[in-house]
Amino acid sequence: MNTPALSVVIPVYNEEQGLAALFARLYPALDALGIAYEVLFVNDGSRDRSAAILREQYQRRPDVTRVILLAGNFGQHMAILSAFAQCRGQRIVTLDADLQNPPEEIGRLLQKMDEGYDYVGGVRRQRQDVSWRRHASWMMNRIRERITHVVMTDQGCMLRAYSRDIIQAINHSQEANTFIPALAYTYARNPGEIEVAHEERAAGESKYSLYKLIRLNFDLVTGFSLMPLQIFSLVGVGLSLLSALFVIYLALRRILLGPEVDGVFTLFGILFFLIGVLLFGIGLLGEYIGRIYQQVRQRPRYLIDTILQSPDEQPPAAALLSRPETHS
Ligand code: UDP
Ligand code: MG
Repeated sequence: MNTPALSVVIPVYNEEQGLAALFARLYPALDALGIAYEVLFVNDGSRDRSAAILREQYQRRPDVTRVILLAGNFGQHMAILSAFAQCRGQRIVTLDADLQNPPEEIGRLLQKMDEGYDYVGGVRRQRQDVSWRRHASWMMNRIRERITHVVMTDQGCMLRAYSRDIIQAINHSQEANTFIPALAYTYARNPGEIEVAHEERAAGESKYSLYKLIRLNFDLVTGFSLMPLQIFSLVGVGLSLLSALFVIYLALRRILLGPEVDGVFTLFGILFFLIGVLLFGIGLLGEYIGRIYQQVRQRPRYLIDTILQSPDEQPPAAALLSRPETHS
């Protein structure tokens, strides 16, 4: 099991209600592939019984299961990164824990990789989510398409397969906030896509609030493109030219027609519009400066509490020194 053909990475955050159903479908689907595999669950600081359930599952299938218990909630993408640093497979598949990505589709992703693709993204056929999320995500996909170089039909689908090379490149990048499917795309030599099924959440509720979704999309857009800033400065140039003309026009009127107060509200309207544009620009600057700030602090992106894995997975020295939490 030291270099299995496949590593499956699953982030888990407060998923106690759905985990049993996930195990019941995941393991048979992987066994059916007939290849050596490992499953890495990452508990992203769940506050429910998820960690205990993962521990039980590890005891049930220690041969193919590894569990990373993070020391807090670091977010889905950081959780996946922590597993990327630990996984050993030749190919790596990521998947959500809520069964929205059917594990039976993993085989099809691998088949597509056999055709020579080093990165295969899933595109959700008939996405089963609430309609505002479908529409917002459609719009974000289009915006991202325009302003980044990342080509993806469905950025929100986490059912994706990556080659070892891409994971290694990701492990070497030290970004503080990132969006894994887009990061992987920048390192892929031959990316492909296939349609995959999508199901309703098996149990529990979405871990993404509107706020978290907006944050995630800012990470995606500002992390992979400078264009928002560039567009903003272009808009700024255009607007300041227009307002310069407007000031000249007002000055001429003052000279030719004398003082006048009519149309003050129009003036206010224009002023408020300009202030709005300015505030948006400052906010946008803040997004980038915030990223720089997080980057220079160089805080660890996640903290691992424990890793549950069988002893032959441990580096030899460590295995001799201590064997807590291991089973043979
Ligand atoms: N998740 C996580 N940490 C978080 C939020 C989510 O590990 O802070 C996991 C979650 O358990 C699930 C996956 O990321 O396996 C996707 O989350 P969710 O299904 O809530 O997102 P949605 O499908 O609504 O986009
Ligand atoms: Mg989900």
